[in-house]
Formats: sequence, structure tokens, C-alpha cells
Amino acid sequence: MGFLDIGSISSSERTLKDTYDCLILGGGPGGLTAGIYASRGGLSTLVLEKGMEGGTLNFTPLIENYPPFPEIVGMELAQKWTEHAEQMGVAILREGIVEASLTGETLAVKTDQGRTVFGKTIIISTGSSYRQLGLASERRFAGKGVSYCALCDGALFKNKKIAVVGGGNSAIDEALYLSQIADSVTIIHRRDQLRAEKALAEKALRNPKIRFYWDTVLTDIEGARSVESLVMENVKTKTRKREPFDGVFIYVGLEPRSACFKGALEMTEDGFIITDPDTLETSIDRVFAVGDVRKKEIRQIITAAADGAIAASFIIKKYFL
Ligand code: NAP
Repeated sequence: MGFLDIGSISSSERTLKDTYDCLILGGGPGGLTAGIYASRGGLSTLVLEKGMEGGTLNFTPLIENYPPFPEIVGMELAQKWTEHAEQMGVAILREGIVEASLTGETLAVKTDQGRTVFGKTIIISTGSSYRQLGLASERRFAGKGVSYCALCDGALFKNKKIAVVGGGNSAIDEALYLSQIADSVTIIHRRDQLRAEKALAEKALRNPKIRFYWDTVLTDIEGARSVESLVMENVKTKTRKREPFDGVFIYVGLEPRSACFKGALEMTEDGFIITDPDTLETSIDRVFAVGDVRKKEIRQIITAAADGAIAASFIIKKYFL
């Protein structure tokens, strides 16, 4: 990761369209919506997405709070969103970014395929990934019973006994999904109150396959080849216990994907990009940030989409009218 010296980029590297009016880094709800608005506004628009278009939507089993769909499978919504963007003329390139140059006349990013792409404006919509707890055993058992994706790995735990760590919307959403597959789901939460919104929390509290270990933290994960037991501590009584489990899903918050921009843009201590709350401009002219990667209060699919619409509309108004 680092910054490109714009002077060192030869024109022969400009293999795509030379320069895009709006270069969008990340193709989740925020990025794709920004693309739709930018393209409709007449800007040449490229979205760079290293994974699947739609981003984390693809790993969300069921969405109940993206109107007007009372229930929609994340992957289906991702597909509809991508089709919409493409119909509007948004170009999508399946490459990730490894370096960014955010100063000078032309903004540029280098992709993981060695390509350099230029933008007159940039919208950062790289999103976030799930944070790790930081236990050494968590790393050791990753993919061997420790998971951060219920939709990807849930099926491996049919009729098994599993735990979910965390008390936010992600933990509860995923515990509800996993309860349809596993024999039992134990939510391990460090406090005695859930952070998750009421409707979700109540669903989990009513679910006979879900039980709660309150005021409890996971301190170790044990097993020979894969997860066999979890060691937990009650933070109030300081009592420790070891209990057999077949797997554990960890949902303890988000890690912004902003490492590429560190040092260049103003960020919070934990790496969320700071933007103007009205325009979503970052500390650098012509660079905007939308969705989960920016510092904001409410992280939802609908607020990411709104961010995308705001940033693109503002770009059109300020730089292209
Ligand atoms: P979050 O809201 O930050 O919740 C993280 C949870 O993990 C909290 O309960 C927190 O405990 C716990 N935690 C944090 N660090 C921990 C540690 N070191 N050890 C043990 N527990 C720890 O994260 P999230 O649930 O991933 O949600 C992220 C954002 O996406 C939120 O804005 C959320 O509303 C949104 N989201 C929305 C939906 C939905 O609308 N259905 C679904 C998923 C995510 P404390 O409560 O004690 O702090």
C-alpha cells in the first residue's frame, strides 16, 4: 500500500478509458448508487470492485429493512442493483485497488492487476470488513470452525452446536439465520443488554434455539484440528468456564477498508474517513467517501445508498455543471 507518484505513470499504462469523470472505488450499495447518479448525470463513470458487485449484500442472507422489499435475499438485491447500474451506463471493472494518488490535477489509483486508472473525481466506497477479536487461537482456527460469514459457512454446521460473539445487529441477524441450520446457537455478549435494534433483539430472545451468555467474553478457542471447545469468562463474577462447541461466528463490529488512504485523508483513530456531513467531501478536494467506510452514525444499506446519491449529485453540481 502507498501513494503513487503521479509523475511516474506513463501514458502507455492508460489502457482503459483515459480518465473517468467519476471513479468509484467499491461496488456495494453506496458505490453502485453513486454510479447510477453520476452516469445519469452524464459523467463517464467506472466502478472498481475487487469482489462481487453488491459487496457485503452478497453475504446477507435476508434483508428486512430495505424498502419497499419487506424481505429480500441479499444476493438478489445485489444482482438487481448491479443490473440497474449497468443499464445506466456504469462501467464495472473487477479489480481491487492497491495504491492511490489523491493529489495533483488528476487523481489516480493503481489496481491489483497493475493497471492505473485516472479520475477527475473519486468516490471512496470501499466499505468495511468484520473486525477480529484478536485472539491467537482465533487466527489458528480461522476456516476450521471460526467464521465471520454465516451465509458462507453456516451450512457446515447443520445440527451442530455453535456460538456467536457480539450483541449488535450483525450478531443477532446472523444468529437468527444460523438458528435455522444449527442445533443450537449461543450468543456470547460482553454486556447484559443487546446493542441490536429492538425488533431483531426480540426475535432472537423469542427463538427457542437461541440462548444467551450475558456479561461474558470469549477468552480462548481450543481443539485439535478444528474448534472443539470455547473458554469464556464472566466479566462480573470473573468465573471461567470451558464448554464444547463445534464452531464460533464472530461479529464484534466493523473495520473500515481505508488502509490505502491512510496519511492522505483525514480519518478517525480507527480508520473511518471523515467527510463533510452535507456534501460527503473528504479533506481532499474532488475526493468523496460514502457508506460504511466513512465516519457516520447510522450504517444501513439505505444510508449507504443515500450517501452515494448525495456524493454523486454534489460532484455533478460542483464540478460538471
Ligand atoms: P456494532 O453495531 O459495532 O456491534 C458490535 C458488537 O460487538 C457490540 O455488541 C459490541 O459490544 C460487541 N463487541 C465489540 N468489540 C468487542 C470485543 N472486543 N469483545 C466482545 N464483544 C465486542 O457492529 P455490527 O453489529 O457489525 O454492526 C455494524 C453496523 O452495521 C451497525 O451500524 C449496524 O446497525 C449495521 N447493521 C445493520 C443491520 C440491520 O439493519 N439489520 C445488520 C447488520 C449491521 P457492546 O454492545 O458492548 O459495545
